[in-house]
Amino acid sequence: MSALTNRSVSEWQPVIGLEIHVELKTRTKMFCRCETSFGLEPNVRTCPVCLAHPGTLPVPNAQAIEWTIKLGLALGCKVSGRALFARKNYFYQDLPKGYQISQYEAPLCIGGRLVVPGPEGASEIRINRAHLEEDAAKTIHVGGVEGRIVGAEHSLVDFNRGGTPLMEIVSEPDIHSSEEAKRFLRLLRQTVVELGISDAEMEKGTLRCDANISVRPAGSNELRTRCELKNMNSFNFIGRGIEAEIARQIAVYESGDEILQETYDFDAASGTLTAHRSKEEAEDYRYFPEPDLVPYEPSAELVERLEAELAELPGSRIERLTSELGYELALDLVTSGRDALYSRLVAAGAEPKAAANVLMNQLAAAGVDPDAVNPNELAKLIEARSSIPTAVFNEGVGASGSSSFAAIDFISQSAISDAGELEPLIDRILAANPSQVEQFRGGKEGLLGFFVGQVMKETQGKADAKVVSELLRAKLNG
Ligand SMILES: [Zn+2]
Repeated sequence: MSALTNRSVSEWQPVIGLEIHVELKTRTKMFCRCETSFGLEPNVRTCPVCLAHPGTLPVPNAQAIEWTIKLGLALGCKVSGRALFARKNYFYQDLPKGYQISQYEAPLCIGGRLVVPGPEGASEIRINRAHLEEDAAKTIHVGGVEGRIVGAEHSLVDFNRGGTPLMEIVSEPDIHSSEEAKRFLRLLRQTVVELGISDAEMEKGTLRCDANISVRPAGSNELRTRCELKNMNSFNFIGRGIEAEIARQIAVYESGDEILQETYDFDAASGTLTAHRSKEEAEDYRYFPEPDLVPYEPSAELVERLEAELAELPGSRIERLTSELGYELALDLVTSGRDALYSRLVAAGAEPKAAANVLMNQLAAAGVDPDAVNPNELAKLIEARSSIPTAVFNEGVGASGSSSFAAIDFISQSAISDAGELEPLIDRILAANPSQVEQFRGGKEGLLGFFVGQVMKETQGKADAKVVSELLRAKLNG
């Protein structure tokens, strides 16, 4: 597949839709009062309801419903006036009821969009639906490689996760590259995290993503047979998995074959795709409305209240900051949670690009909590950065999270720019390095950096580099 030329790849357009599952961080499960958990001893958070004992009845979690509506509103979805829960029937050991309570017809949220900023402008990805369901329990395969079923001796089931509220967000197939898929997913994750409804961590499995992928001749509008990529547990794997599947499909078409609708696992270690079953269709699940739950009719007041609670969303903040900082820096600021401090620094008079760079470099390296910083004081320090030694500036940024931080304490340690103080030192250094002086005068001007470095070393980084350079040039050329 790696033999494919760029020319053949450019003749095909990938068509990608994503299905994202987000575990909500409610205190209790979706239909019972067991507390949700992560990483506990197996099977300590269970009850007759989530273990599906006969005669038990589900009671929906109001918080989970509100949070799903809230995300739907953030995505510009229409909130259903009469939402239904449905039974999705299938058999697996991690699903004791033999069905999952999910939504099929009449999900909570329908039809929205996410505007995804990118390096070449924003793209709009339509959202088909956002609905609510319960998570299955967790199967652990013992003896297989990396807990996989292949080669396993037996399997164990941990029901702690069974019944955790799970939100499913389905995009339309509007995504056309692995990079765009990753950008969409990152932005959706940031939105979910900022709404405070999930930790959405891929490595913990609280954010999971499947991709439906097909390719078509560039310029055509047809939708060809798609394959589903499952079980991708990092942003990096998602990108690589999608790339591998696109290359596989192009190779199949170019050899004259047809694509079969199948589900694939991407093995990140070997970079290979394994087909594991042909994909089920909706009719295989024999959906029907859940008879134990009445239809849910959200009140207009609830929807209005949730809408009013939405602050400016990360996508629109990234777009706004992209115009002044460029996409990468804007994305970094927003996804690191430092953009609010950035705006306060600029309002306090800091130069925008300098402020953004300090936040993403020195402040990040020092591990300072952006919410603890007094923006007026840090703005003063940033504005004075060129006249104070680098070491002192970094020290100041590192201290900016403390309540007693005052920029003046660091600005007052200004760089040594007094020629009267620097000249004797420079003379001494030139006298100690006669061969370098000779080489410089012979045309090796790059040695200026060597002399500046010597002066910095002697002054512990406190000399004004610009003044030192000027003095050195004057002496060496004189
Ligand atoms: Zn329970």
